[in-house]
Amino acid sequence: MKVAVLGAGVVGVATAYFLARSGHEVIVVDRQAEAGLETSFANGGQISANHATPWATPGTPWKAVKWLGRRDAPLLLHLRADLALWSWCLRFLGNCTNQRMRINTERALRVAVYSRAQLAEVREQTGIQYDQLQRGILHFYRDPEEYGSALPQVDLMNRYGCSRHIVSPKECLEIEPALTAIGDDLVGGIFSPDDESGDAFAFTHELARICHEIGVSFRFDTAIRALVRDGDRITGVDCDGERLRADAYVVAMGSYSPLLLKPLGIRLPVVPAKGYSATLPLTRPEAAPVVSLIDDEFKMVYSRLGNRLRIAGTAEFAGYDLSLDDRRARFILGKALEIFPDCGDAEQAALWTGLRPSTPDGVPVMGRTPISNLFVNTGHGTLGWTMACGAGRLVADVIGGVTPAIPLDGTGIDRFA
Ligand SMILES: Cc1cc2nc3c(=O)[nH]c(=O)nc-3n(C[C@H](O)[C@H](O)[C@H](O)COP(=O)(O)OP(=O)(O)OC[C@H]3O[C@@H](n4cnc5c(N)ncnc54)[C@H](O)[C@@H]3O)c2cc1C
Repeated sequence: MKVAVLGAGVVGVATAYFLARSGHEVIVVDRQAEAGLETSFANGGQISANHATPWATPGTPWKAVKWLGRRDAPLLLHLRADLALWSWCLRFLGNCTNQRMRINTERALRVAVYSRAQLAEVREQTGIQYDQLQRGILHFYRDPEEYGSALPQVDLMNRYGCSRHIVSPKECLEIEPALTAIGDDLVGGIFSPDDESGDAFAFTHELARICHEIGVSFRFDTAIRALVRDGDRITGVDCDGERLRADAYVVAMGSYSPLLLKPLGIRLPVVPAKGYSATLPLTRPEAAPVVSLIDDEFKMVYSRLGNRLRIAGTAEFAGYDLSLDDRRARFILGKALEIFPDCGDAEQAALWTGLRPSTPDGVPVMGRTPISNLFVNTGHGTLGWTMACGAGRLVADVIGGVTPAIPLDGTGIDRFA
Protein backbone atom coordinates (compact mmCIF):
# COMPACT_ATOMS: atom_id res chain seq x y z
CA MET A 1 0.00 0.00 0.00
CA LYS A 2 1.21 3.55 -0.67
CA VAL A 3 0.94 5.75 2.43
CA ALA A 4 1.48 9.51 2.59
CA VAL A 5 2.64 10.74 6.00
CA LEU A 6 1.90 14.44 6.38
CA GLY A 7 4.45 16.00 8.73
CA ALA A 8 8.07 15.08 9.42
CA GLY A 9 8.31 15.76 13.15
CA VAL A 10 9.35 12.99 15.49
CA VAL A 11 5.84 11.48 15.31
CA GLY A 12 5.57 11.53 11.49
CA VAL A 13 9.07 10.13 10.98
CA ALA A 14 8.51 7.33 13.53
CA THR A 15 5.23 6.50 11.77
CA ALA A 16 7.02 6.40 8.41
CA TYR A 17 9.70 4.12 9.86
CA PHE A 18 7.22 1.53 11.14
CA LEU A 19 5.14 1.70 7.95
CA ALA A 20 8.22 1.11 5.81
CA ARG A 21 9.35 -1.75 8.07
CA SER A 22 5.95 -3.35 7.51
CA GLY A 23 6.52 -3.26 3.75
CA HIS A 24 4.49 -0.21 2.74
CA GLU A 25 5.58 2.34 0.16
CA VAL A 26 5.87 5.61 2.11
CA ILE A 27 6.16 9.27 1.19
CA VAL A 28 6.63 11.94 3.87
CA VAL A 29 5.72 15.57 3.15
CA ASP A 30 6.85 18.58 5.17
CA ARG A 31 7.11 22.32 4.65
CA GLN A 32 10.52 22.53 6.30
CA ALA A 33 13.86 21.83 4.65
CA GLU A 34 14.48 18.74 6.79
CA ALA A 35 12.88 16.56 9.43
CA GLY A 36 12.29 17.66 13.02
CA LEU A 37 12.61 21.42 12.62
CA GLU A 38 9.40 22.46 14.41
CA THR A 39 8.22 21.25 17.86
CA SER A 40 10.55 18.25 17.80
CA PHE A 41 13.57 20.53 17.47
CA ALA A 42 14.59 21.57 21.00
CA ASN A 43 12.21 20.02 23.52
CA GLY A 44 12.99 18.94 27.08
CA GLY A 45 14.62 15.72 25.90
CA GLN A 46 12.85 13.47 28.39
CA ILE A 47 11.55 10.00 27.66
CA SER A 48 9.34 10.28 30.71
CA ALA A 49 7.05 7.27 30.51
CA ASN A 50 6.72 7.13 34.30
CA HIS A 51 5.68 10.78 34.43
CA ALA A 52 2.93 10.55 31.83
CA THR A 53 0.41 12.47 33.90
CA PRO A 54 -2.09 14.78 32.21
CA TRP A 55 -2.12 18.54 32.88
CA ALA A 56 -5.80 18.28 33.76
CA THR A 57 -5.93 17.37 37.46
CA PRO A 58 -8.32 18.50 40.22
CA GLY A 59 -5.68 20.98 41.45
CA THR A 60 -4.82 22.56 38.09
CA PRO A 61 -7.60 25.21 37.84
CA TRP A 62 -6.65 26.61 41.28
CA LYS A 63 -2.99 26.73 40.39
CA ALA A 64 -3.85 28.51 37.13
CA VAL A 65 -5.80 31.16 39.10
CA LYS A 66 -2.88 31.55 41.53
CA TRP A 67 -0.51 32.14 38.61
CA LEU A 68 -2.76 34.73 36.90
CA GLY A 69 -0.89 37.96 36.19
CA ARG A 70 2.55 36.53 37.07
CA ARG A 71 4.94 36.95 34.12
CA ASP A 72 7.06 34.06 35.38
CA ALA A 73 4.02 31.78 35.74
CA PRO A 74 4.60 28.26 34.44
CA LEU A 75 1.23 28.52 32.68
CA LEU A 76 -0.14 31.56 30.84
CA LEU A 77 -3.51 31.85 29.16
CA HIS A 78 -3.85 34.76 26.73
CA LEU A 79 -7.54 35.51 26.68
CA ARG A 80 -8.64 36.04 23.08
CA ALA A 81 -11.65 35.60 20.88
CA ASP A 82 -10.76 32.10 19.83
CA LEU A 83 -13.69 29.70 19.83
CA ALA A 84 -11.49 26.62 19.45
CA LEU A 85 -9.45 27.61 22.50
CA TRP A 86 -12.51 28.37 24.65
CA SER A 87 -14.14 25.10 23.74
CA TRP A 88 -10.81 23.32 24.47
CA CYS A 89 -10.69 25.05 27.90
CA LEU A 90 -14.19 23.83 28.74
CA ARG A 91 -13.24 20.29 27.81
CA PHE A 92 -10.02 20.68 29.83
CA LEU A 93 -12.02 21.76 32.92
CA GLY A 94 -14.28 18.75 32.43
CA ASN A 95 -11.16 16.57 32.75
CA CYS A 96 -10.06 18.15 36.03
CA THR A 97 -11.79 15.59 38.25
CA ASN A 98 -10.26 12.69 40.16
CA GLN A 99 -12.13 10.16 38.07
CA ARG A 100 -11.12 11.66 34.70
CA MET A 101 -7.54 12.11 35.89
CA ARG A 102 -7.33 8.40 36.74
CA ILE A 103 -8.77 7.37 33.35
CA ASN A 104 -6.53 9.77 31.41
CA THR A 105 -3.41 8.80 33.37
CA GLU A 106 -3.97 5.12 32.56
CA ARG A 107 -4.43 5.91 28.84
CA ALA A 108 -1.37 8.14 28.57
CA LEU A 109 0.78 5.72 30.57
CA ARG A 110 -0.29 2.79 28.43
CA VAL A 111 1.00 4.55 25.31
CA ALA A 112 4.11 6.01 26.98
CA VAL A 113 5.36 2.78 28.55
CA TYR A 114 4.78 0.89 25.30
CA SER A 115 6.57 3.65 23.44
CA ARG A 116 9.67 3.49 25.59
CA ALA A 117 9.95 -0.21 24.74
CA GLN A 118 9.52 0.57 21.03
CA LEU A 119 12.25 3.21 21.24
CA ALA A 120 14.57 0.57 22.74
CA GLU A 121 13.70 -1.72 19.86
CA VAL A 122 14.43 0.99 17.27
CA ARG A 123 17.78 1.57 18.97
CA GLU A 124 18.56 -2.10 18.79
CA GLN A 125 17.45 -2.45 15.15
CA THR A 126 19.26 0.62 13.86
CA GLY A 127 22.05 1.54 16.30
CA ILE A 128 20.72 5.12 16.21
CA GLN A 129 22.63 7.69 18.32
CA TYR A 130 21.04 10.83 19.74
CA ASP A 131 22.93 11.78 22.94
CA GLN A 132 20.78 9.26 24.76
CA LEU A 133 21.18 8.57 28.48
CA GLN A 134 19.45 5.79 30.38
CA ARG A 135 19.97 7.26 33.84
CA GLY A 136 16.37 7.68 34.92
CA ILE A 137 14.36 10.83 35.74
CA LEU A 138 14.29 12.49 39.15
CA HIS A 139 11.32 14.75 39.96
CA PHE A 140 12.42 16.94 42.85
CA TYR A 141 10.34 19.08 45.21
CA ARG A 142 10.99 22.10 47.39
CA ASP A 143 7.41 22.69 48.58
CA PRO A 144 6.21 20.22 51.26
CA GLU A 145 2.56 20.75 50.31
CA GLU A 146 3.16 20.01 46.62
CA TYR A 147 5.27 16.99 47.53
CA GLY A 148 2.57 15.69 49.89
CA SER A 149 -0.07 15.96 47.20
CA ALA A 150 2.15 14.18 44.63
CA LEU A 151 2.77 11.10 46.76
CA PRO A 152 -0.64 9.39 46.36
CA GLN A 153 -0.04 9.51 42.56
CA VAL A 154 3.02 7.31 42.99
CA ASP A 155 0.93 4.37 44.15
CA LEU A 156 -1.67 4.92 41.45
CA MET A 157 0.96 4.99 38.71
CA ASN A 158 2.86 2.00 40.09
CA ARG A 159 -0.42 0.07 39.97
CA TYR A 160 -0.51 0.87 36.22
CA GLY A 161 2.93 -0.68 35.76
CA CYS A 162 5.24 2.28 36.47
CA SER A 163 8.36 2.08 38.51
CA ARG A 164 8.41 5.23 40.67
CA HIS A 165 10.27 5.46 43.96
CA ILE A 166 9.79 7.99 46.73
CA VAL A 167 13.23 9.30 47.71
CA SER A 168 14.50 11.49 50.56
CA PRO A 169 16.45 14.75 50.03
CA LYS A 170 19.65 12.82 50.85
CA GLU A 171 18.81 10.18 48.24
CA CYS A 172 18.07 12.94 45.69
CA LEU A 173 21.63 14.18 46.15
CA GLU A 174 23.02 10.66 45.86
CA ILE A 175 21.10 10.18 42.60
CA GLU A 176 22.20 13.57 41.23
CA PRO A 177 25.06 15.23 43.15
CA ALA A 178 24.84 18.31 40.89
CA LEU A 179 21.79 19.35 42.94
CA THR A 180 24.05 20.25 45.88
CA ALA A 181 23.48 24.02 45.61
CA ILE A 182 19.80 23.55 46.51
CA GLY A 183 20.31 20.50 48.76
CA ASP A 184 18.99 22.32 51.85
CA ASP A 185 15.79 23.34 50.06
CA LEU A 186 14.83 19.85 48.91
CA VAL A 187 11.91 18.14 50.67
CA GLY A 188 12.06 14.95 48.60
CA GLY A 189 11.76 13.45 45.18
CA ILE A 190 10.20 10.79 43.01
CA PHE A 191 12.69 8.77 41.01
CA SER A 192 11.92 6.59 38.00
CA PRO A 193 15.13 4.70 37.22
CA ASP A 194 13.98 3.24 33.90
CA ASP A 195 13.12 6.56 32.24
CA GLU A 196 15.55 8.10 29.76
CA SER A 197 16.59 11.23 27.93
CA GLY A 198 18.02 12.19 24.57
CA ASP A 199 17.97 14.74 21.77
CA ALA A 200 14.66 14.47 19.90
CA PHE A 201 15.93 16.43 16.91
CA ALA A 202 19.05 14.27 16.51
CA PHE A 203 16.82 11.20 16.74
CA THR A 204 14.31 12.51 14.19
CA HIS A 205 17.00 13.62 11.77
CA GLU A 206 18.87 10.33 12.02
CA LEU A 207 15.70 8.21 11.81
CA ALA A 208 14.68 10.13 8.66
CA ARG A 209 18.06 9.22 7.16
CA ILE A 210 17.49 5.56 8.07
CA CYS A 211 13.97 5.74 6.61
CA HIS A 212 15.42 7.11 3.38
CA GLU A 213 17.86 4.17 3.27
CA ILE A 214 15.01 1.68 3.58
CA GLY A 215 13.08 3.29 0.75
CA VAL A 216 10.94 6.09 2.25
CA SER A 217 10.81 9.16 0.03
CA PHE A 218 10.72 12.64 1.51
CA ARG A 219 9.20 15.74 -0.04
CA PHE A 220 10.62 18.71 1.91
CA ASP A 221 10.01 22.45 1.39
CA THR A 222 6.46 21.50 0.47
CA ALA A 223 3.50 23.16 2.17
CA ILE A 224 0.39 21.00 2.52
CA ARG A 225 -2.71 23.00 1.61
CA ALA A 226 -5.72 20.65 1.62
CA LEU A 227 -6.93 17.09 1.53
CA VAL A 228 -9.14 16.19 -1.43
CA ARG A 229 -12.17 14.10 -0.53
CA ASP A 230 -14.41 11.98 -2.69
CA GLY A 231 -17.23 10.48 -0.61
CA ASP A 232 -15.76 8.17 1.99
CA ARG A 233 -12.18 8.48 0.75
CA ILE A 234 -9.31 10.92 0.46
CA THR A 235 -8.12 10.93 -3.14
CA GLY A 236 -5.18 13.29 -2.87
CA VAL A 237 -3.34 15.94 -0.93
CA ASP A 238 -2.87 19.36 -2.47
CA CYS A 239 0.61 20.71 -1.88
CA ASP A 240 2.27 23.73 -3.44
CA GLY A 241 1.17 23.45 -7.04
CA GLU A 242 0.75 19.67 -7.17
CA ARG A 243 -1.59 16.92 -6.03
CA LEU A 244 0.05 13.88 -4.38
CA ARG A 245 -1.87 10.61 -4.35
CA ALA A 246 -1.66 7.62 -2.05
CA ASP A 247 -3.86 4.79 -0.81
CA ALA A 248 -3.83 6.04 2.79
CA TYR A 249 -2.95 9.34 4.49
CA VAL A 250 -1.66 10.02 8.02
CA VAL A 251 -2.00 13.52 9.43
CA ALA A 252 0.99 14.03 11.77
CA MET A 253 1.31 17.79 11.55
CA GLY A 254 1.47 18.45 15.30
CA SER A 255 -0.49 21.53 16.36
CA TYR A 256 -1.40 22.30 12.73
CA SER A 257 -3.31 19.03 12.23
CA PRO A 258 -6.75 20.47 13.15
CA LEU A 259 -6.39 23.16 10.47
CA LEU A 260 -6.08 20.54 7.73
CA LEU A 261 -8.94 18.44 9.08
CA LYS A 262 -11.46 21.22 9.74
CA PRO A 263 -12.55 21.73 6.09
CA LEU A 264 -13.44 18.01 6.02
CA GLY A 265 -15.80 18.53 8.97
CA ILE A 266 -13.45 16.76 11.40
CA ARG A 267 -13.02 18.79 14.55
CA LEU A 268 -9.93 17.84 16.48
CA PRO A 269 -9.55 19.51 19.91
CA VAL A 270 -5.80 19.99 19.65
CA VAL A 271 -4.44 23.45 20.49
CA PRO A 272 -0.88 24.77 20.53
CA ALA A 273 0.70 25.27 23.97
CA LYS A 274 3.85 27.31 23.55
CA GLY A 275 6.89 26.22 25.54
CA TYR A 276 10.41 27.60 25.87
CA SER A 277 13.78 25.96 25.96
CA ALA A 278 17.37 27.07 26.39
CA THR A 279 20.31 24.93 25.31
CA LEU A 280 23.41 25.75 27.24
CA PRO A 281 26.86 24.64 26.04
CA LEU A 282 28.66 23.42 29.16
CA THR A 283 31.91 25.04 30.22
CA ARG A 284 32.05 23.02 33.48
CA PRO A 285 30.33 19.72 32.60
CA GLU A 286 31.02 18.35 36.09
CA ALA A 287 28.70 21.02 37.56
CA ALA A 288 25.74 19.95 35.37
CA PRO A 289 23.38 17.02 35.93
CA VAL A 290 23.50 13.76 33.99
CA VAL A 291 20.26 12.38 35.45
CA SER A 292 17.30 14.02 33.73
CA LEU A 293 15.39 16.22 36.19
CA ILE A 294 11.96 17.75 36.75
CA ASP A 295 11.87 20.82 38.98
CA ASP A 296 8.38 20.78 40.42
CA GLU A 297 8.39 24.34 41.69
CA PHE A 298 8.94 25.93 38.29
CA LYS A 299 7.58 23.04 36.17
CA MET A 300 10.88 22.90 34.33
CA VAL A 301 12.90 19.98 33.01
CA TYR A 302 16.64 19.51 32.58
CA SER A 303 18.29 17.00 30.27
CA ARG A 304 21.96 16.48 29.63
CA LEU A 305 22.61 16.17 25.90
CA GLY A 306 26.29 15.38 25.50
CA ASN A 307 28.17 18.55 26.29
CA ARG A 308 25.01 20.66 26.47
CA LEU A 309 22.29 21.14 29.07
CA ARG A 310 18.73 21.46 27.75
CA ILE A 311 16.40 23.43 30.01
CA ALA A 312 12.71 23.56 29.11
CA GLY A 313 9.43 24.68 30.54
CA THR A 314 6.44 27.03 30.60
CA ALA A 315 3.14 26.64 28.81
CA GLU A 316 1.45 29.54 27.09
CA PHE A 317 -1.87 29.36 25.32
CA ALA A 318 -1.34 32.09 22.76
CA GLY A 319 -2.53 30.58 19.48
CA TYR A 320 0.13 29.85 16.87
CA ASP A 321 2.37 32.70 18.01
CA LEU A 322 5.96 31.44 18.20
CA SER A 323 7.54 34.73 19.26
CA LEU A 324 10.20 34.50 21.94
CA ASP A 325 9.77 36.70 25.01
CA ASP A 326 13.38 37.21 26.04
CA ARG A 327 12.44 37.71 29.71
CA ARG A 328 10.60 34.41 29.86
CA ALA A 329 13.49 32.58 28.17
CA ARG A 330 16.06 34.24 30.45
CA PHE A 331 13.92 33.32 33.45
CA ILE A 332 14.22 29.58 32.83
CA LEU A 333 17.90 29.96 32.04
CA GLY A 334 18.44 31.93 35.26
CA LYS A 335 16.67 29.27 37.33
CA ALA A 336 18.96 26.61 35.84
CA LEU A 337 22.06 28.60 36.70
CA GLU A 338 20.84 29.09 40.27
CA ILE A 339 20.74 25.31 40.67
CA PHE A 340 23.89 24.52 38.66
CA PRO A 341 26.02 27.65 39.14
CA ASP A 342 28.72 28.34 36.57
CA CYS A 343 28.08 25.19 34.57
CA GLY A 344 27.87 27.20 31.35
CA ASP A 345 27.91 30.66 29.84
CA ALA A 346 24.35 32.05 29.65
CA GLU A 347 25.34 34.32 26.75
CA GLN A 348 26.05 31.26 24.60
CA ALA A 349 22.66 29.64 25.23
CA ALA A 350 20.39 28.96 22.25
CA LEU A 351 16.84 30.06 23.04
CA TRP A 352 13.82 28.50 21.37
CA THR A 353 10.03 28.21 21.44
CA GLY A 354 7.83 25.38 20.20
CA LEU A 355 4.13 24.51 20.12
CA ARG A 356 3.02 21.39 22.00
CA PRO A 357 0.01 19.84 20.23
CA SER A 358 -2.22 19.54 23.29
CA THR A 359 -5.48 17.69 23.86
CA PRO A 360 -7.78 18.61 26.75
CA ASP A 361 -7.35 15.18 28.39
CA GLY A 362 -3.59 14.81 27.87
CA VAL A 363 -4.01 11.69 25.75
CA PRO A 364 -2.87 11.65 22.09
CA VAL A 365 -5.22 11.17 19.14
CA MET A 366 -4.23 8.17 17.09
CA GLY A 367 -5.69 5.91 14.44
CA ARG A 368 -8.81 6.01 12.30
CA THR A 369 -11.00 8.97 11.39
CA PRO A 370 -14.54 8.95 9.97
CA ILE A 371 -12.92 8.89 6.48
CA SER A 372 -11.89 5.34 5.63
CA ASN A 373 -8.33 5.92 4.36
CA LEU A 374 -7.48 8.91 6.57
CA PHE A 375 -5.59 8.43 9.84
CA VAL A 376 -4.27 10.77 12.54
CA ASN A 377 -1.25 10.71 14.80
CA THR A 378 -1.11 13.89 16.84
CA GLY A 379 -2.02 15.55 20.14
CA HIS A 380 0.92 14.13 22.07
CA GLY A 381 1.28 17.41 23.97
CA THR A 382 4.07 17.40 26.55
CA LEU A 383 4.98 13.81 25.69
CA GLY A 384 5.46 13.66 21.93
CA TRP A 385 9.09 12.57 22.14
CA THR A 386 8.22 9.98 24.80
CA MET A 387 5.31 8.61 22.79
CA ALA A 388 6.59 8.94 19.22
CA CYS A 389 7.88 5.40 18.63
CA GLY A 390 4.89 3.74 20.28
CA ALA A 391 2.41 5.98 18.48
CA GLY A 392 4.23 5.42 15.18
CA ARG A 393 4.08 1.66 15.58
CA LEU A 394 0.43 1.67 16.70
CA VAL A 395 -0.78 3.79 13.79
CA ALA A 396 1.29 1.74 11.30
CA ASP A 397 -0.35 -1.42 12.72
CA VAL A 398 -3.85 0.04 12.37
CA ILE A 399 -3.19 1.04 8.76
CA GLY A 400 -1.73 -2.39 7.97
CA GLY A 401 -4.66 -4.24 9.57
CA VAL A 402 -2.40 -5.70 12.27
CA THR A 403 -3.80 -5.99 15.81
CA PRO A 404 -1.84 -3.47 17.93
CA ALA A 405 0.15 -4.87 20.86
CA ILE A 406 -1.73 -2.67 23.37
CA PRO A 407 -5.42 -1.71 23.46
CA LEU A 408 -6.18 1.55 21.68
CA ASP A 409 -9.41 2.33 23.49
CA GLY A 410 -9.64 5.92 24.66
CA THR A 411 -6.86 7.12 22.34
CA GLY A 412 -8.89 7.69 19.16
CA ILE A 413 -10.73 10.66 17.70
CA ASP A 414 -14.08 9.02 18.53
CA ARG A 415 -13.72 9.96 22.21
CA PHE A 416 -14.41 13.60 21.31
CA ALA A 417 -17.61 12.85 19.40
C1 LIG B 1 9.34 23.41 25.54
C2 LIG B 1 8.93 22.00 25.20
C3 LIG B 1 9.46 20.95 25.94
C4 LIG B 1 9.07 19.63 25.65
N1 LIG B 1 9.66 18.61 26.34
C5 LIG B 1 9.34 17.33 26.06
C6 LIG B 1 9.98 16.26 26.74
O1 LIG B 1 10.87 16.45 27.56
N2 LIG B 1 9.57 14.99 26.46
C7 LIG B 1 8.57 14.73 25.55
O2 LIG B 1 8.22 13.57 25.38
N3 LIG B 1 7.99 15.73 24.85
C8 LIG B 1 8.34 17.02 25.08
N4 LIG B 1 7.74 18.05 24.41
C9 LIG B 1 6.68 17.73 23.45
C10 LIG B 1 7.20 17.25 22.10
O3 LIG B 1 8.28 18.05 21.68
C11 LIG B 1 6.08 17.29 21.06
O4 LIG B 1 4.94 16.62 21.54
C12 LIG B 1 6.52 16.62 19.76
O5 LIG B 1 7.69 17.21 19.27
C13 LIG B 1 5.42 16.73 18.71
O6 LIG B 1 5.91 16.08 17.57
P1 LIG B 1 5.06 16.11 16.23
O7 LIG B 1 5.82 15.31 15.24
O8 LIG B 1 3.65 15.75 16.54
O9 LIG B 1 5.01 17.66 15.84
P2 LIG B 1 6.14 18.54 15.10
O10 LIG B 1 7.49 18.21 15.54
O11 LIG B 1 5.69 19.96 15.23
O12 LIG B 1 6.00 18.07 13.61
C14 LIG B 1 4.94 18.47 12.78
C15 LIG B 1 5.50 18.66 11.39
O13 LIG B 1 4.44 19.02 10.53
C16 LIG B 1 4.91 19.98 9.62
N5 LIG B 1 3.77 20.79 9.14
C17 LIG B 1 2.83 21.41 9.88
N6 LIG B 1 1.96 22.05 9.09
C18 LIG B 1 2.36 21.81 7.79
C19 LIG B 1 1.86 22.19 6.52
N7 LIG B 1 0.77 22.93 6.37
N8 LIG B 1 2.54 21.76 5.44
C20 LIG B 1 3.65 20.98 5.54
N9 LIG B 1 4.16 20.60 6.72
C21 LIG B 1 3.52 21.00 7.84
C22 LIG B 1 5.91 20.81 10.41
O14 LIG B 1 6.85 21.42 9.57
C23 LIG B 1 6.53 19.78 11.35
O15 LIG B 1 7.75 19.30 10.85
C24 LIG B 1 8.12 19.38 24.64
C25 LIG B 1 7.60 20.43 23.88
C26 LIG B 1 8.01 21.73 24.14
C27 LIG B 1 7.48 22.85 23.30
